[in-house]
Amino acid sequence: MEKQLNILPLKDWGLPGNIEPLVIAGPCSAESEEQVLATARLLAASGIRILRAGIWKPRTRPNSFEGVGTVGLQWLKKAKAETGMFTTTEVANRQHVFEALKHGIDILWIGARTTANPFAVQEIADAIKGADVPVLIKNPVNPDVELWLGAIERIYEAGINRIGAIHRGFSTYGKNVYRNPPHWQVPIDLHRRMPEIPLLVDPSHICGNRTMLKDITQKSLDLNFDGLIIEVHHDPDNAWSDAKQQITPAQLSNLLDELVIRKEKTNDAEFLHTIEELRSQIDKFDEELLDILASRMEVAETIGKYKMKNNIKILQPGRWKEILAHTRRMGEARNLSTEFVETVFMAIHQESINKQMKIMSNGKSNE
Ligand code: PEP
Ligand code: MN
Repeated sequence: MEKQLNILPLKDWGLPGNIEPLVIAGPCSAESEEQVLATARLLAASGIRILRAGIWKPRTRPNSFEGVGTVGLQWLKKAKAETGMFTTTEVANRQHVFEALKHGIDILWIGARTTANPFAVQEIADAIKGADVPVLIKNPVNPDVELWLGAIERIYEAGINRIGAIHRGFSTYGKNVYRNPPHWQVPIDLHRRMPEIPLLVDPSHICGNRTMLKDITQKSLDLNFDGLIIEVHHDPDNAWSDAKQQITPAQLSNLLDELVIRKEKTNDAEFLHTIEELRSQIDKFDEELLDILASRMEVAETIGKYKMKNNIKILQPGRWKEILAHTRRMGEARNLSTEFVETVFMAIHQESINKQMKIMSNGKSNE
């Protein structure tokens, strides 16, 4: 585990409203004063207390709408004055930080493309120094947990102790049902190494459409995430950016109503008894698995000794291909995914090779 950071739990961030889960909602981009206010009013009426809107937009290609710039901060300020909502926007450089703080933005967020660039994150960290503002840090565009941790550390070292991490999926080449496929293992690893950091999901940028938002949000809550940041527009079809993935405030209310918030813990005796029983079954299977693996390795070692005696190479690609095809088929018949079966057998095969190599090199040194 990393050195324990003194990051405050969400409940101590001084945020308005219910934080279980924390919900941040608003348009991808601020487009006009009317649009920001219309969306904010509808969201506030349905109980949302934190408004997001991008003012400076990182666009993949030039000559598209790149955000309204500083003038949009006035609109967020107005929305806050009228609805009492907290506001948040993306910052990607020193100037953005100064402008956002000057206009009383309550929470800053760092976008995925920026997190991937340590120079930019350091510039933001230097600009933030001395300001006591919460910062949410999206995962980098590539699934690199070190880069994500590094960005969090840079902001933390600037004296910020209200830091959250946002999983917004990872970029991919080629067709995929998701715009940025989620890779849950990455935020889970991040959280294992920094258990104090709150985790949010950004279903909008993961999905890139409206139909899968609920499933992704539910999945994140089941994985113990603390909340979500989601794109909501009063007229999504006519949004200037990310129109396909934005929903109306009414659709957000439905989505939130349908979410099942499961508890992490319970005192229910019956539940505790059942779970303990099931866990002991798992523990028993794990032990059996290890026994079987140890026996398999013993056979591999015997084969290694036999190969050495007969002067045969360790790696027999034909045999390995056969094992892989065979175990894949057997896995399918048992409802185990090909990816899983391959990963397990690659690791087993590697361990067999390592054991046999050891035998060969010991054999040589004994000669
Ligand atoms: C955004 O939230 O508006 C955004 C640009 O997201 P990301 O940095 O995740 O692409
Ligand atoms: Mn967007």
